[in-house]
Amino acid sequence: MRVLAVGAHPDDIEILCAGTLARYAANGDFVAMAISTNGEVGSSTLPKEEIARIRQEEARSSAAVIGAELHWLGYPDEFLYENEQTRMRYIDLVRQVRPDLILTHDPVNDYHPDHLTTGQLLWNVRIMTAVPNIKTDHPPCDKIPELYFMDTIAGVHFVPEEYVDITSTIDMKRRMLSAHKSQESWLRDLFKMSYVEFMETCSGFRGIQAGVRYAECFRRSVTFPASMKKLLP
Ligand SMILES: [Zn+2]
Repeated sequence: MRVLAVGAHPDDIEILCAGTLARYAANGDFVAMAISTNGEVGSSTLPKEEIARIRQEEARSSAAVIGAELHWLGYPDEFLYENEQTRMRYIDLVRQVRPDLILTHDPVNDYHPDHLTTGQLLWNVRIMTAVPNIKTDHPPCDKIPELYFMDTIAGVHFVPEEYVDITSTIDMKRRMLSAHKSQESWLRDLFKMSYVEFMETCSGFRGIQAGVRYAECFRRSVTFPASMKKLLP
């Protein structure tokens, strides 16, 4: 099994699906994490280039916690657009990783522009990744990957369809999110609490819904051809 998670910003994957990724990694599955934008607005004191460099290092530290491969796409934070160039870049990303399963943002129910665009890009390219006449640096995928959409930040507007019990990996999730040290004060201003506490509250709330201590939730993108594959129990 090969799993690719694609987040708009460094730390989105950690907040929304790191517990699930840690479970796949614990199973011996291959896990890759791709980040659309460079997170360059994520500081009120550091210049763009410096905070982007710091956040890339933090993302690498986080991925290393579960031995995941990191793909840093480096688009400008808050200004990711769906166009021919980005579409080709995301086709090539998927072809490089060759995942069975992609986890990304919901292109309908999310509410942040970079999240919506990231989710829309994966939705748009999913079938194209296996089309030989669309040429990129890597050869076409042998099969069309499954696509699941992650929860939104704080669960707003998101009605879950499937839950993954992450009680066994919540510590790994904490460690991954804690690797994003530069975001502590920034997110404290936004959320009025520590970002780890924020994540634990959201994962605990989804856990209550699923009847476990901590959970993450997803919606499945169903298109033709759909397979019978399911997420982990
Ligand atoms: Zn984000």
